[in-house]
Amino acid sequence: MMETPAQLDIEAVRRDFPILSRQVHGRPLSYLDNGATAFVPEAVLAAVGEQYRAYQANVHRGVHYLSEQSTARVERVRQQVADFLNAEAPEEIIFTSGATESINLVARAFADGILKPRDRLLVTEMEHHSNLVPWQEACRRAGAALDVVPVTDAGELDIEELLRLLDAGPRLLAVTWVSNVLGTVNPLPQIVRMAHAVGCPVLIDAAQAMRHGPVDVRSLDCDFLCFSGHKMMAPTGVGVLYGKRRRLERLPPAAFGGGMIDEVDTQRATWAEPPFKFEAGTPNITGIVGLGAALEYLQSLGLPAVYAREAELIAYAEAQLQERGDLDILGAPARRAGAVSFNLRGLSPYDVAKLLDQLGVAVRSGHHCAQPLLARFGLTGAVRVTPAFYNTREEIDALMDGLDRIAALSQRSL
Ligand code: PMP
Repeated sequence: MMETPAQLDIEAVRRDFPILSRQVHGRPLSYLDNGATAFVPEAVLAAVGEQYRAYQANVHRGVHYLSEQSTARVERVRQQVADFLNAEAPEEIIFTSGATESINLVARAFADGILKPRDRLLVTEMEHHSNLVPWQEACRRAGAALDVVPVTDAGELDIEELLRLLDAGPRLLAVTWVSNVLGTVNPLPQIVRMAHAVGCPVLIDAAQAMRHGPVDVRSLDCDFLCFSGHKMMAPTGVGVLYGKRRRLERLPPAAFGGGMIDEVDTQRATWAEPPFKFEAGTPNITGIVGLGAALEYLQSLGLPAVYAREAELIAYAEAQLQERGDLDILGAPARRAGAVSFNLRGLSPYDVAKLLDQLGVAVRSGHHCAQPLLARFGLTGAVRVTPAFYNTREEIDALMDGLDRIAALSQRSL
């Protein structure tokens, strides 16, 4: 039997995030845009401050005390991330500026060293532009073709089509774990097994997946996985690319400069071993330290409790929206995490988000960097609600009250 996780002490958790008590437009803030970026707790702010106050020095270069300390702190986080993801070794963890750079790194390396003309790559119709456009570019540069797994009316991947497209022998499948628009949780373990059965490696975009359940790269057996720190309570500008060691060894570097070389003469250079081969230039040292503190913070809350709270809030938001007769929710996936998107009939998502903002409710509107997915539903935009564990039901109720007021206003102006 599954054990019920201990519940979070929400009042205490909220005190960790000073920004939650801000007012906007003279009203209490209901921040429901955590899918875009999440808030940073005091523990992370303190770690960032401490890094600047006491340890600021470049890494992997100096032999002096501070440089060695700074290097040790960064490498400790690499080990921490490896443990968090259950990777085999810290060498499988590359620090980047975020999920977008992680994907670009692999896509550029594929374009430069792996893809041949007439090769195929596979993505899905549900991808964030960050997991689509880099592959379009890689294919364009290499003369390869890009296949796209369609999305069903329910907002799920069409698994039969996926199987059929895998049969064409793509060199890689790049797929999101959780849709940033629909909230669909794709059946990743099953998809990885299907891809591997035809020898196709898999890159998982876990940007929206990290706060919703354990991310275990070894049990997933994925070849690459990426996420951004800023959706995990870390500062912006830091992210992770996980790559299986043997994949990273074969992948050419995508950016060049200090820190990633073995030896250099005036005409050529040889590369360091992974992960350093992929980390040209000074990394975001403070961001990395902040990421370490963020993971520690989440672990101190108890990850199962965080996952359970996230699940409870999105289920509540979805149920409240479903009760209304005046809006259409995008998709109806069997498993949802983190996000629910909708349109109030007869109103533009921009107007709805703008009016909600006046009431202190922060939601996102627009195409959510997923234009092909919106187009699949015949739309150019939607309103998206993405709670995080520190939100309350009252904040979701504030959203519903706001929608009531907007609906009443629009009735009056008709
Ligand atoms: N993939 C998904 C599914 C996302 O939601 C996002 C962020 N909105 C990204 C990739 C890109 O993340 P970042 O902008 O932090 O690089």
